[in-house]
Amino acid sequence: MSKLCVSITETTAPAVIAAMKTLPAGVDMAEVRLDCLDGDYTAIKSDLQKICENRDRPIIVTNRPVWEGGGWSAGETWRLLLLKEAADMGADYVDVELRSLSNISLSELPTRKIISYHNYEETPSDLEIIYRQCRYSGADIVKIATTAADISDSARMLGFLKKHSGAPPHLIALCMGEEGIATRVLAPKFGGYLSFASQGAGKNSAPGQIEWRDMIGMYRFKQINAATGIYGVMADPVSHSMSPAIHNAAFASRDINAVYLPLKVKDPAQFLDSFQPLGVEGLSVTIPHKTAVIPLMDELDDLAARVGALNTVNISDGRRFGYNTDVAAALGVLGEAVKKRRNGDLSRCSILLIGAGGTARALACGLSGSIRSLVIANRTVSRAEELAAGTGALACSLEEMENHRPDIIINTTSVGMHPETGKTPVAARMLAEKPIVADAVYNPIETRLLREAKEAGCITASGFDWFVDQAAEQFRIWTGRQAPRELMAEVVRRRLG
Ligand code: NAP
Repeated sequence: MSKLCVSITETTAPAVIAAMKTLPAGVDMAEVRLDCLDGDYTAIKSDLQKICENRDRPIIVTNRPVWEGGGWSAGETWRLLLLKEAADMGADYVDVELRSLSNISLSELPTRKIISYHNYEETPSDLEIIYRQCRYSGADIVKIATTAADISDSARMLGFLKKHSGAPPHLIALCMGEEGIATRVLAPKFGGYLSFASQGAGKNSAPGQIEWRDMIGMYRFKQINAATGIYGVMADPVSHSMSPAIHNAAFASRDINAVYLPLKVKDPAQFLDSFQPLGVEGLSVTIPHKTAVIPLMDELDDLAARVGALNTVNISDGRRFGYNTDVAAALGVLGEAVKKRRNGDLSRCSILLIGAGGTARALACGLSGSIRSLVIANRTVSRAEELAAGTGALACSLEEMENHRPDIIINTTSVGMHPETGKTPVAARMLAEKPIVADAVYNPIETRLLREAKEAGCITASGFDWFVDQAAEQFRIWTGRQAPRELMAEVVRRRLG
């Protein structure tokens, strides 16, 4: 089972000891970064003694030089002497850089030796050569940490880890950076000796490190094993995504052996080709890939084919099935609202769709042919005209939309979204005849548009329900089980504050 190690980057011995003591039992070991401590050789040696005496779990002692991406600049002799002191003081592991092996004799270090290689620019093609150099130097553990220029580097690193993890010495193989997150979380699935986590926000010792709280809580690192299914959201950017929190909570609540990752993907085809063989079972797809992935699927559901965009991939027996739960959820939320006012008959409704971006396009295609009439209003009228031409709708400007008296108004612009929560795309006078009002914006949960619509007596449909429903439907597609919708909604509520 892979261990979880938290890197401690405090600058004094008391702070290192205090930080270590706040860590739960699920954190197996701590990495003490001597290169982060204040003071000269003598002060750091004294700190090291205190840390070794007061440790409450095994420690790795690292003294990373500037030339290997660390903070130690006070000379090689002193740096390596401190590693020797650490071994003599009983540190459980010391980390020795491959590039410093000519300056130190490993036989003088009476403890377990991690021989490490770091590359902050790329993931080189010669991983095997680097591995052999580390391995045959007398390493107890080999550590290779490179930078993922593309997420396919992470797939290569995980394949490399899987290949070598079965035989001694132990192997730590990871990619740094946002594109490398999968290598940190999936280390247990592929036999990695350990994965590093950070103490907390802003205390990373390397790019892409995840806080231990998320490793244990959100990703359930300690439960990941060879059988764990891989899921994730492919997007660029991806760091803002709420999907990992939502889906990991859902998997945990249903006791499903699966983990859901943020996957920063630039090239969807390259990503799918490199990650699918590792055991990816399902994906959420979002900006900017919803359309580009369509030709990469083996099959599409009806809505995805009609809309020309998808947000969900299910992979089964090596085949990729694409779905559009975005549009399905929007139609479901609208349908529920219509039931309350128009006897459930969406086909007799006239709709004013505000916006002509990706969401509007998907909805216009999804609604096309199944409603009485559609008007598309947009700030840039030419975009509304273009969308209207393809969907048999009418187009108009934001000013002209006031001339229409629709049964349903749907906002798909970002007007009213955090932080500009005081704005609304719909003047209050348009609400006088009590149309059903739907807003795609889900942050805040109650937008000004929805609030004013409720005050005017309109039935409303929220972007929040639409957002949670599309995620719940993804869960159902992937697992064949009903989603824990209330829990998923609660996760989103908490994230939105
Ligand atoms: P998009 O493709 O960038 O389109 C943005 C649309 O908003 C365009 O029509 C744009 O008009 C309009 N717009 C932007 N700023 C405006 C302003 N100040 N005044 C008037 N119009 C403005 O974005 P999208 O992907 O369609 O997303 C739109 C919104 O839907 C976002 O808030 C997103 O979070 C939300 N959404 C929610 C869900 C859900 O599950 N609830 C799902 C998808 C999207 P121009 O053409 O003139 O630029």
